Amino acid sequence: MALDDSQRKTMLAAIIDSSEDAIISKDLNGIITSWNKSAERIFGYREEEVIGEHISILIPPDRLGEEDMIISNLRAGRRIDHFETIRHTKSGRQLQVSLTVSPIRDANGNVVGASKIARDITSQKEAEELIRKYVKQLEVLNDTGKTIGAHLDVDTILQKVTDATTRLSGAAFGAFFYNTTDANGEAYMLYALSGAPKEAFEKFGMPRNTDVFKITFSGDGSFRSDDITKDPRYGKNAPHKGMPKGHLPVVSYLAVPVISQSGVVIGGLFFGHPQPAMFKEEHEQLVIGISAQAAMALDNARLYQEIQALNARKDEFIGFASHELKTPLTTIAGYLQLAETTPQRANDFLPRISKQVTRLTAIISDLLDISKIQAGKMELNFAKTSLHALIKENVETVRQLSGRAIEYVLPHEDVAVVIDGQKMGQVLINVLTNATKYSDAGARIIISAVRMGDEIQITVQDEGVGIPPQHLDKIFTQFYRVTKPGKSSTEGLGLGLYISREITEAHGGRIWADSEEGKGTTVHIHFPIEIIRKK
Ligand code: ADP
Repeated sequence: MALDDSQRKTMLAAIIDSSEDAIISKDLNGIITSWNKSAERIFGYREEEVIGEHISILIPPDRLGEEDMIISNLRAGRRIDHFETIRHTKSGRQLQVSLTVSPIRDANGNVVGASKIARDITSQKEAEELIRKYVKQLEVLNDTGKTIGAHLDVDTILQKVTDATTRLSGAAFGAFFYNTTDANGEAYMLYALSGAPKEAFEKFGMPRNTDVFKITFSGDGSFRSDDITKDPRYGKNAPHKGMPKGHLPVVSYLAVPVISQSGVVIGGLFFGHPQPAMFKEEHEQLVIGISAQAAMALDNARLYQEIQALNARKDEFIGFASHELKTPLTTIAGYLQLAETTPQRANDFLPRISKQVTRLTAIISDLLDISKIQAGKMELNFAKTSLHALIKENVETVRQLSGRAIEYVLPHEDVAVVIDGQKMGQVLINVLTNATKYSDAGARIIISAVRMGDEIQITVQDEGVGIPPQHLDKIFTQFYRVTKPGKSSTEGLGLGLYISREITEAHGGRIWADSEEGKGTTVHIHFPIEIIRKK
């Protein structure tokens, strides 16, 4: 059925009105001549408001020049396709639009106006922007992951992580703080800073152990606040009651703990912004993601550092060991030579040779112990043993070897302990020998033992050189020796206390030292009368 003219017009009008896009026509002077339903919906003007108005009511002032360009293209009979620009609505809201403008010709083919299809692409543009943002974030994430994974150096890792998270969260500044407080247990240790010079913080001292920081360092998950100054936990601590005067302004606040695989809170990443509500869920999630990567990288870096330190000590140990093994051998060789040249005095040398053999045997037995401990093969033979006998026998051994007097204080009543007597004896010999080695010949050495409930507590006290506090824990690790610069070091491999700790712990006990430099050292050995062993 052929349509007549008026039917065709009605149908065309219906099609135009049902379009999703704004369809507008205008004459060559830019005066609007038609306006469909979607134009009404998109731009907010009703048809009767705009017909006869100039198209420039839709154009932001800084883009008015575009209309001249469009009109001159139309006059030349050229169509404009998908021109992306900005227009505004009646209420002044800006819209991203894509314009297609085609010339309208009269029956003679002259251009008399233009039809304009405007598509609102605001949400499409927003989506594109969002994707761009995510791609950028992914790039930073990927980049950060790669860099921190490739580094075994803690400083580099922490700086990269702080920089990346500060960037991704849009923070004005960010910092990584170690979960270690200073000697007063107050201020946390600043490690890396991004977006602000270190001096900006240092003059105020480090963040203190306040309720706000506690959330992060106790590993209670991340904490985000639109305005930290309004948080009930904020500003409770003297002397500043909040941020000190002149502190970089923090309103928006985000803090994420960095937790190692073993569950220890290594530290925290902290972000600030002077404006409120700057950090969103997505920022928090990103930082959480990176902080997990950072924790792994830090774990690796720590292991690597430990291995390096151990390696260095092993190298040093090889030097010590060769020296230690060689000294008694050289002495023995010397005496043997003397014995050969003066056979009548050979008997005089025997005790000296024998002493060196004892020393060699002790060194070799330490080395064997170490390899057993490291292979997890240290065997203990538990048996009922007299505490009195244990102490007296081993004191006697050390007395004979060192020629030093050793005082002892024992419980009145002997105690039967279930231990590996030979191994525990070795602990006493090691600790007593150290007391003789690291003190002057005339100084007192006292060993005392008491029973406290089900525990035996032994202390070995000397009046020797003492141990600087920073070494106190370390002397119980393998190959560790406190070397005093300038002093010829006493013989030793740095194994005795390590072996002693292994043995004591295998008995369910503990060993540690107190010391005062120049005054003396006390080594404490505590162990149960009978260890409850797992079958
Ligand atoms: P070493 O064979 O070197 O003595 P140890 O493991 O027995 O090895 O001791 C480790 C280090 O601890 C020693 O090198 C020494 O510096 C220090 N040390 C141990 N006992 C004492 C002590 N009683 N007084 C001072 N320093 C000590």
